[in-house]
Amino acid sequence: HWSLSNFDIGRPLGKGHFGKVYLARVRSRTDPFILVLKCLTKDEIITKQVQTQVRREIEVMQTLRHPNIIRLYGWFHDSERIFLMLELAGKGELFKQLAKKGKFSEKRSSQYIRQVASGLAYLHSNDIIHRDIKPENLLLGMNGEIKIGDFGWSVYSPAENSQRTLAGTLSYTSPEMVLGQPYGKAIDIWALGVLTYELTCGEEPFGADTSGGPRLVHQRICRCDLKFPPFLSSDAKEFIRSLLRFKPEERLPLDQVDQQPWILKHL
Ligand code: ADP
Ligand code: MG
Ligand code: MG
Repeated sequence: HWSLSNFDIGRPLGKGHFGKVYLARVRSRTDPFILVLKCLTKDEIITKQVQTQVRREIEVMQTLRHPNIIRLYGWFHDSERIFLMLELAGKGELFKQLAKKGKFSEKRSSQYIRQVASGLAYLHSNDIIHRDIKPENLLLGMNGEIKIGDFGWSVYSPAENSQRTLAGTLSYTSPEMVLGQPYGKAIDIWALGVLTYELTCGEEPFGADTSGGPRLVHQRICRCDLKFPPFLSSDAKEFIRSLLRFKPEERLPLDQVDQQPWILKHL
């Protein structure tokens, strides 16, 4: 029952792959309600063959309720576009903060990581794999709290190790996905390890596509070829190593993240 006429459109907040993301306000309320409209152009959805991704993004997000996950309030469409009504993350992308700072202190990083782990644990308990955890898809609420966003790559996956589709972003890809093996929820735990490294060290652990091409990155991923900068604490290194394990079943379970020394010492 929603349409574009229900909203005042404000400034653009970001650019998505298939359209823009705007700040918006519901018109009819006396009590102004601020939210985000993510516009997806139907033409582009069809040209880029992402109908399934968009459907999943909506279906998955609509059911979720967690303080560290962006809420989807509803959606509607007109002849040209689909609009997602999203909870506003007032402080924007974690990626932008990271770009500005280079890297974060271990204290700040560990507080972010604990919240991402909490959101991921909730997703996994609902049999959802996010598949695209990275700083661009982590947003910050008004109090600086983590809000996991962009569920375009997410998938409902109740059976263990039943997925095969290549998804997500090269430098965050897990060994089992690189090797084309069936995979499951543990790919998000791997990505959490890559994220921890990137936040604390200011660069991706296995390099990016630009530094030697995808094959080199893939090789380093499959060898778990980790090199730590000298400033990183041993608790941080141990935490990262416990997530970036080659075998999915050996990766630290998300419900144990809170008990790790690196997390505990920064609470
Ligand atoms: P895409 O699926 O095309 O990557 P995203 O959902 O990642 O699109 O949104 C693109 C950008 O728009 C984000 O990186 C962010 O800057 C901004 N954005 C998206 N959702 C929100 C939100 N709920 N609150 C604030 N900014 C947002
Ligand atoms: Mg995105
Ligand atoms: Mg997306």
